[in-house]
Amino acid sequence: MFSAASTPTRTQSRPEDRAGAILTVDLAALVENWRILKKKAAPTCDVGAVVKSDAYGLGLEPVARALHGAGCKTFYVAHLDGAITLRQILGPGPRIACLNGPNKGTERDHVAFKIIPVLSTPEHIQAWCAYALKEEVLAESIVQVDTGMHRLGLSAREFKALMNDADGFVGLHPQMIMSHLACADEAASPMNRQQLDRFRGFKDQFRTRFPDAKGTLANSSGLFLGPEWHFDYARPGVALYGVNPTPGQPNPMLPVVNLRARIIQVHRVDSPGHVGYGAAASVPEGAKIATVSMGYADGYLRSLSSVGVGVLDGIKVPVLGRVSMDLITFDVSNVPDSAAQVGGFIDILSNVVTVDDVAKAAGTIGYEILTSLGTRFHRRYLAASARI
Ligand SMILES: *Cc1c(COP(=O)(O)O)cnc(C)c1O
Repeated sequence: MFSAASTPTRTQSRPEDRAGAILTVDLAALVENWRILKKKAAPTCDVGAVVKSDAYGLGLEPVARALHGAGCKTFYVAHLDGAITLRQILGPGPRIACLNGPNKGTERDHVAFKIIPVLSTPEHIQAWCAYALKEEVLAESIVQVDTGMHRLGLSAREFKALMNDADGFVGLHPQMIMSHLACADEAASPMNRQQLDRFRGFKDQFRTRFPDAKGTLANSSGLFLGPEWHFDYARPGVALYGVNPTPGQPNPMLPVVNLRARIIQVHRVDSPGHVGYGAAASVPEGAKIATVSMGYADGYLRSLSSVGVGVLDGIKVPVLGRVSMDLITFDVSNVPDSAAQVGGFIDILSNVVTVDDVAKAAGTIGYEILTSLGTRFHRRYLAASARI
């Protein structure tokens, strides 16, 4: 019998042997992607890194450390807690901006941890200025304007009202004026030029009050629209992680993520039948099915049922039947028995079936595939210095 006292306090097996799947993040490829984006931008443009949502699911700490080590000086996160964690990881040097703005009562923490808030509403600006004046601090901020997305940012009317009010921006020390593109991944969309023109209008007016304020407009795809969209600070996220910022054209980025799921059983079907929940897929006699130890709870979306594809021994293997919470069944009938073995691994994300491919099959975007990646994988990080 086990008693609490006899429960071991440590395991004796390797974590990679316990895990159902192994996620490998190539930090050297990540850093190379950042350099590719830097080359794309004008030398005067500060190319930062958006590391919100745990660096798009790949791990804030290793990702931020690798980019910081390569010379990245500006980081963008969504929430204050992420920003504070990042400050603790990277120390006092880099600029850290918090995209979702300062919630009421958090001004003190922004200042203490040197987090630059993105101010998107008149209330943000009013509260931030009031705090700065009361505490007599010169705290940097970013002012966001809405150029057509209607998500975050001052409307033209709100901006005008603040500009016309002599006290409107008193106490403000804006580092940048910012806006966000709605359609940057569709290079032909007229929205891109429209938002650019509006942004220029805001920026020119803003600089009559704050001549040193810089501009920031481009996300990953924005960097590929052309130099006019680059301004002083670029905010790429997804391209750093290997997702194609130019859909429909060859991917200029290197793949960063590899995910392999462990085969825990191989079935040889001895009479025609069905596979998985709902008996949703049929299999003929002689079919070979490999079941892997990963499922929708690990971010392999249930919408990939019967449409997802993995790779085993260089051969594409389709998902057969419904994706379960912790299990996926693949048709490995075309794979030699020598490779379709318990203990082997099916590539879920690889150079052959990329994040973009899986996203397309699931009816979503690479962003969602990455940020859905689960917490149960054994994670390996390939060192940034491994690639010369
Ligand atoms: C997420 C985000 C980015 C990064 O976008 P990508 O498309 O991932 O490059 C940049 N700016 C803002 C405001 C964002 O919310």
